[in-house]
Amino acid sequence: MPGGVAKLALDAPAQASLGGNRVLVMREGNGWVALVGIPLSTKPGSKLRVEVQYPDKRRRLEIAVLRKKYPRQELSMAPEQAELPPEQLARYEEERKHIQEVLRTFSETGPASFAMQQPTPGRRSGSFGLRRVINGVARSPHSGMDIAAAEGTPVSAASTGRVIDTGEYLFLGRTVILDHGQGLLSLYSHLSEVSAAPGESVPAGAAIGKVGATGRATGPHLHFSVYLNAAAVDPAYFLTRL
Ligand code: ZN
Repeated sequence: MPGGVAKLALDAPAQASLGGNRVLVMREGNGWVALVGIPLSTKPGSKLRVEVQYPDKRRRLEIAVLRKKYPRQELSMAPEQAELPPEQLARYEEERKHIQEVLRTFSETGPASFAMQQPTPGRRSGSFGLRRVINGVARSPHSGMDIAAAEGTPVSAASTGRVIDTGEYLFLGRTVILDHGQGLLSLYSHLSEVSAAPGESVPAGAAIGKVGATGRATGPHLHFSVYLNAAAVDPAYFLTRL
């Protein structure tokens, strides 16, 4: 389903991709599997095609995408609040392109573990996949999990990884993005403080910043996203500690 993860059995180790993005491939038991992130924008009932390149053959595997009902939230606000002022549009577009590029990072070494720890203590508010409709116009669905926490609460790496981006963005505010390997990434945003630098390797649980309300946030909280093949997937699948 959209925002979910599909597991495909492979005949042998192979390179797999979906829509031009490399897909995570790993050993499982005596065989090999691909773990495919299903984009939230995928239409239920449609089929996704995963290209698999074996050393000696090429195959195409299909994923039938099921329906998942995500909550929907209708909001109305003054038009000047709902729209970006023209002078910010160019910056927003540039940042969007940059972040998309970062989210396509693929490193060959696979993740040490799929289990992630909750990056900051606190109640999980908001919800992954929530469809926001502002003044009757559908916005992109909520791509992460919001965790309520006081300003300044430490934020730690959900899993061992490498810092691939830090920045201060219009919507996301101060942000850290980690690469865990084979296209598995995690993103932490609205931070008040970032304490990690690009290129740095961080063990699971290492401090990378502090909770804040930078960017477009109504109050202090951590927005936490997990990506596979550049598709945001529900972080709840990976969190071991509730
Ligand atoms: Zn959020």
